[in-house]
Amino acid sequence: MLQTMYSADGIGLAAPQVGVHKQVIVIDCEPDKPEAPPLVLINPTIKSTSGEVSPFQEGCLSIPGVYLEVKRPEVVEVSYRDEYGRPQTLKAKELLSTVIQHEMDHLNGVLFVDRVENKLALTEELVKHKFSPKAVKAV
Ligand SMILES: [Zn+2]
Repeated sequence: MLQTMYSADGIGLAAPQVGVHKQVIVIDCEPDKPEAPPLVLINPTIKSTSGEVSPFQEGCLSIPGVYLEVKRPEVVEVSYRDEYGRPQTLKAKELLSTVIQHEMDHLNGVLFVDRVENKLALTEELVKHKFSPKAVKAV
């Protein structure tokens, strides 16, 4: 999964995106920094969200080329097991918080386009990149 993410220039990937039906996500917000290792989150659960609900431009390896604004809580606290099976808790904000929420959505079959509020921009962007706006299911 890490290899797929890096070779696609992504900063996050969820197992269902590569056909693996497991509750696993990998994240590396700073792929150019070897001293900051990637995060592996197994069976992640959101403990709490806080802060403002703010917009962020998101993209997804499953919908290449499409970038749209999605509103999510600024801070998320998540518990999970790491790649060694150890229980962990992480409080994330800003980009990392967004990526965690985006990737966890994949585990529930939700894509970021399902959360876009600006329906006109959504349709235009999807059509521009030859995706079907009908495939989007609002959450
Ligand atoms: Zn995605």
